[in-house]
Amino acid sequence: MQQEKFPTVIIIGAGPGGLALYHALIKNKDRKKFNVKIFERESGPKDRWQGYHIGLASRGIRSLMNCIPSSIALNIPKAIPNPIPDVEYHGISVTDHTGNLLLKPPLKQFKDVYEIVENPDHFVSLTVAYRDRLRDVLLDDVPVQWDKKCIGYEETEGGVLVNFEDGSQEFCDILVGADGVNSPVRKQKIPELQINEVGATFVNANVAVPKHLMERLIKVHGNSLVQKTLGLNGDSTLIASRLIPIEQEQDKYNSDEIYYRTTIAFFYPSELDNDETENFKVNDNDPASVIKHVKHIIQKLRPECEMTDILLELWDLAPKTTPNDPVKYPFKTYNPIQRRKVKDINPLSVNSWTSSRVTLIGDAAHAMSPLLGLGTTNAVQDANILSQALLNYTPENSISCIKEYENEMLKRASADVLNSRDVTLKQLTKVGYFGFIIRNSILKITNIIMNIRDLLANFMK
Ligand SMILES: Cc1cc2nc3c(=O)[nH]c(=O)nc-3n(C[C@H](O)[C@H](O)[C@H](O)COP(=O)(O)OP(=O)(O)OC[C@H]3O[C@@H](n4cnc5c(N)ncnc54)[C@H](O)[C@@H]3O)c2cc1C
Repeated sequence: MQQEKFPTVIIIGAGPGGLALYHALIKNKDRKKFNVKIFERESGPKDRWQGYHIGLASRGIRSLMNCIPSSIALNIPKAIPNPIPDVEYHGISVTDHTGNLLLKPPLKQFKDVYEIVENPDHFVSLTVAYRDRLRDVLLDDVPVQWDKKCIGYEETEGGVLVNFEDGSQEFCDILVGADGVNSPVRKQKIPELQINEVGATFVNANVAVPKHLMERLIKVHGNSLVQKTLGLNGDSTLIASRLIPIEQEQDKYNSDEIYYRTTIAFFYPSELDNDETENFKVNDNDPASVIKHVKHIIQKLRPECEMTDILLELWDLAPKTTPNDPVKYPFKTYNPIQRRKVKDINPLSVNSWTSSRVTLIGDAAHAMSPLLGLGTTNAVQDANILSQALLNYTPENSISCIKEYENEMLKRASADVLNSRDVTLKQLTKVGYFGFIIRNSILKITNIIMNIRDLLANFMK
């Protein structure tokens, strides 16, 4: 008897997007069976530091849960811990440089990720997830082929031949580039689609914040998992934390105090990197000099106040050297504290999208400014929508399945790229004394309107 030959899907990149797609295609195998292969350029799960915090909006969590089987879903709270009731407030709040509240969109609190899935219409929320643990959870049961750097492909009418740096080749019916912002698959498929620099630079660091400092921060800023402060000179800060004590690390610090996992980020106009008044040289390979640079700009741009003092203390906690303890830090490659340009890719900025056997998901198609925290959300939404479209796959209609996915993705992701860019550009604008009053008033009025709308919507339910 002749064995049935299933179509092959190759995924390049085992980030959140690629892994979510792998699970979704396998999960749906009773409805449509594919031979799915996933290739990653890293040499193994511990090759590279896998990040700290990522934002996930409720639509992203719902898509993720749609993609993964129940065995993986059971482990999701390791990566997206349940909120601590009455302690953690999911969502974002925006203040001015002194901590004066400007905007706190009314986001619904939820008790766990399952609640978001069960009540899709009533829950709009943003949470802070652990990227490193999400990667570990999503890797479970996935036969990633490591050390396989894709360098290009050859597409014919009958399929796609994928080329790897080690000289090997793989044939498939559909190729999905889930290979991040510098995607070689995108560069070949749509060379005109360029990475755009928004004009902002940011530096971020992952720190363990002692309870007494976190309490001071919450006192000045208010309590929410993502805290943003807007300066007067195009500078802004983003602080993302979970108020879950870092138990396993207590011995490293003062054992009497609790510490919290926190990401601090400072955004500023890129031209400030050419500041001639700075009397030292910033070297992006030397974290100590980058931290000094950030503190220098904060002190230069922000008036003295409790919020400024807290920011400077937070930056003092950032590690000034590369970690060298292989037990606590088992990665070959470190993610150094360095200046990074805010970049994005608007997939609709070119009109040369032609659906073919080669498509893109996640950052490969639409990297976005991190300011709204929607990058991972869109990557897993892509995985979900593409897997749904492929349920109708037949050899004759493969391109129309891809087209169906791309039509939805291009519209949704482009809107989020442009919104994130818009917010970044607004924050880059210097405000004088009157500008400061106008900006604060507009945001406060917006806040009142958003909260009244939410109250009314709840009242009408
Ligand atoms: C190591 C790492 C750490 C990160 N840390 C954070 C963080 O702390 N906070 C945050 O907000 N965002 C972080 N991000 C970005 C965030 O994960 C993405 O913006 C978002 O989740 C979109 O996911 P993605 O799957 O589309 O792309 P990515 O998460 O970028 O994943 C792409 C994957 O493709 C692989 N890849 C790239 N090129 C090739 C190639 N030629 N051949 C084979 N494989 C390839 C990469 O190694 C990576 O594993 C990080 C990304 C990476 C890669």
